[in-house]
This record gives sequence, C-alpha cells and structure tokens, in this order.
Amino acid sequence: ATQLKEDTTSSESKDVKGFKGHDMLAPFTAGSQTTDTHPLVIEKSEGSYVYDTNGRKYLDSLAGLWCTALGGNEPRLVDAANKQLTTLPFYHSFWNRTTRPSLDLATVLLQTFTARKMGKVFFTNSGSEANDTQVKLVWYYNNALGRPEKKKFIARNKSYHGSTLIAASLSGLPALHKNFDLPVPFVLHTDCPHYWRYHLPGETEEDFATRLANNLEEMILKEGPETIAAFIAEPVMGAGGVIPPPATYFEKVQAVVKKYDILFIADEVICAFGRLGTMFGCDKYNIKPDLVSLAKALSSGYMPIGAVLVSPEISDVIHSQSSKLGSFSHGFTYSGHPVSCAVALETLKIYKERNIIEQIQSLSPKFQDGIKAFSNSPIVGEIRGTGLIIGTEFVDNKSPNDLFPSEWGVGTIFGQECEKRGMLVRVAGDNIMMCPPFIITPEEIDQLISTYGEALTATEERVAAIKSQ
Ligand code: PMP
Repeated sequence: ATQLKEDTTSSESKDVKGFKGHDMLAPFTAGSQTTDTHPLVIEKSEGSYVYDTNGRKYLDSLAGLWCTALGGNEPRLVDAANKQLTTLPFYHSFWNRTTRPSLDLATVLLQTFTARKMGKVFFTNSGSEANDTQVKLVWYYNNALGRPEKKKFIARNKSYHGSTLIAASLSGLPALHKNFDLPVPFVLHTDCPHYWRYHLPGETEEDFATRLANNLEEMILKEGPETIAAFIAEPVMGAGGVIPPPATYFEKVQAVVKKYDILFIADEVICAFGRLGTMFGCDKYNIKPDLVSLAKALSSGYMPIGAVLVSPEISDVIHSQSSKLGSFSHGFTYSGHPVSCAVALETLKIYKERNIIEQIQSLSPKFQDGIKAFSNSPIVGEIRGTGLIIGTEFVDNKSPNDLFPSEWGVGTIFGQECEKRGMLVRVAGDNIMMCPPFIITPEEIDQLISTYGEALTATEERVAAIKSQ
C-alpha cells in the first residue's frame, strides 16, 4: 500500500518491478491482476471526466459503473448530502419509525413511475439487494396467498441482476456461477433475446421474438405453471453486452407470463431515469411490471441506494394479511438511509428541472449514429444501443459464430487503446460497453467518438498483426 502512494501508474503498466499488490480483495478482479499490475487509482471527478493519481484525465464513458448520471461534481447533490448529514445523518426505518427523506422519496418514486400504478416502495442499498428483496417479496406474497409451491424464478441467459447469492443466481452469466456453486436450484434461465447472435436463417425479429416466447411457455409448462412465481428481465440487457430487445419481444413474453399468473419483475437498475431516452425502460417497451428494481442513477451514484417498487396488488396482500403473517421481517440497517434518500430526492429534482429526458433524446442520435458509423470495421460484429447506452461486439469475419480466440484479448486491447487516449470503457470479453453521464455535452460526444475511432483503428492493426504471426 505504501508503494502504491509512491509509484502509481496506469493499470496498463505490467512491468512494475517489486510491486506487491494492494490490500484490497477487489471486486470482479483476478487475484493475479492486483499483483501483476497497478490499479488505476481514481482521485477526482469533474463533469464527464475522472482523474487518476497522476493527474491524467479520462473521459468516463461508463459513468462510473453505469451510475454517475449527473457527472462528477454536481454541487447540489453535495449540498443535499451535507444538509442531511448535519441535521440527521442516520435513523432507520424499522418498526414503523422512519425519516422524512425516505418518506418523501417513496412518494416521489411512485409519482415518477407511470408505466402503471405502483403501490409501495421498499428501500435497499444496492441493485443486488433490490433483486434479493424481489425474491423474498414474491415468496412472501405467494405464501400469503396459500400457494407455497409457486416459488421458481425464470431469468434470461446473459442477464445481470447483481452478485449476492440470489441476484447472482438470477444473473445468466457463467462467471457469476462458476466457483460459487450457483445458481440456486429454484432459478431457471431462458433464451437471451439477442437477435443478431441467435436468430435462425431467414427469421425476422418478430419471428425470433415469437420463438423465444414459445420457448418460455414450453419451459413454464414443463416445470408446471403452478411452480413458477416470477419472470425477471432488464428492459435493455446491460452487463451482458447491451442488448436491446427484438421487436415485439416484451409484448409476447408479457402475454405468456400473464397467462400463467407469473409476476413480471423489471430490473431497471441501469435503464431507469432516462438512460434509454424515456424515464423508464418500461415506458419504452410498454412493460406493465408487478415489481421494479432501481438503483444507480437514482442517486446519480453519489450515495448507495436501491429501491423496489411494488404493485398495489402485492402491497395490498402484504397489508391485508399482516395479522396472519406478522411483520414483513426483511430489511437492512440502511434501508431508506436519510442521506442517500436526500441525495436521491435532489437527483430526481434535477432530472426534472433540466428536462433530462428531452436532453437525452436530443443527444442520442449524435452518440448512437457516431458510434454505429464504425459498424463496417472488419473486427466489429455488431454495434447496438439506444438512448445513451451502446455496446460493441468484436468478432472475426463479421460473423456471430467466429469468435476471436479469447487469448488474443481483443476487447482488452481496445480497452487499453482507449485508456491510452484518455477514455475509460467497460470491457467484458470481446464486448465493449459505454453509457456516459446524462450531462455529457455534444463536444464531449465528439471526443468520445473520435477516441473510439482511433482506438478501433489501433485495435484493427494489432489484431491484424496477431493474425499474421
Ligand atoms: N441489476 C442490473 C441490471 C445491474 O446492472 C446491476 C449492476 N450493474 C445490478 C442489478 C446490481 O446492482 P449493485 O451492483 O448495485 O448490487
């Protein structure tokens, strides 16, 4: 740790002699990464940029971890936190005691979500906790209704729902399961709705969506509809590679789950509050969920907070059955933390005042068209996105079936080339993801696009060199 202070270099330098690693067991980081390379230590943020300990400036194309929607130094959020810290830094929400900011935030969230009427809000500290809470809510609800066998969940391959035991189980990414004895047995995974990668020859997007909805129905019938409690989906899949749904997909899967009295959980942790150019992903795809998970842009990432929106049907059962069931014995010390709620309230106020949805809608074509213009690159398979979120998938021969050998590390090369040029992107295998802050300016989008283009050219050259060896 001492050495870190003396000699902090970018994560790229792999030749730092004598570096012993640091003292953190770092999330989503290989053990060897922390001993072979220095971490990139970020020290300061300003608007769409972050700075490392050497003073190097990076355009933060992932908004932290898909969250710092208002950028790096919004003074109103700092003031909101300070004000709350100086009046009431903490009080809990257990046993019908609570605080003003949490009550107010619950009201504002119910007013903000208009895809359908919601009944109540439960606060958590993260998206993972929100999704774990979903599972417990659904079980509690089905127990209250006297159908204890209706307990299984269907999620989708390549989904990301978090990394706690249940949220990781719901996630459809092998890396979250392997080495952890997951998923738990009551979670099933159905098809990933990625048209480009999985459609059959001659199949239209609509046909593909029909096939996936049929497969979902088959799975439900095979398991027994009386055993399936809920279906969970991100409106646009995020960490799985930014995968917007094919046309008619949500209409068709919603019809299937409704037919078998299966609840629909919308995981809006990335999509909510404008990311897709609509307030929620549910608005964009006409989803009428029973439950919604929120986090990230809820507080613009300034304080940890997540939330679950609960339909009136579910909250009414929890309410009306309370004499039979006793208390809803679930919650966290920091559920509805007043400082997090105060910051979230101010965040939502700013989104409204600045017409953030219109702002994103006006920035989106420049961002989407600018990056999609690189689709012809020989190493790019597909570039896909909407609003202010976009993913790039690298493949050989423009074919979804011709993956580059993983040891070539094509995605990693691209990430390095971006970092060298002062931009941070999310790399997951040969998928690249970007979701800049909502406050990114047109000039910063120009910079993002030109950096992407230069990094792509450099990556093409390095891939060609590897191929010719
Ligand atoms: N759901 C989705 C869709 C996410 O993208 C994430 C985080 N990337 C989570 C849940 C988990 O959120 P957290 O990391 O706050 O637990």
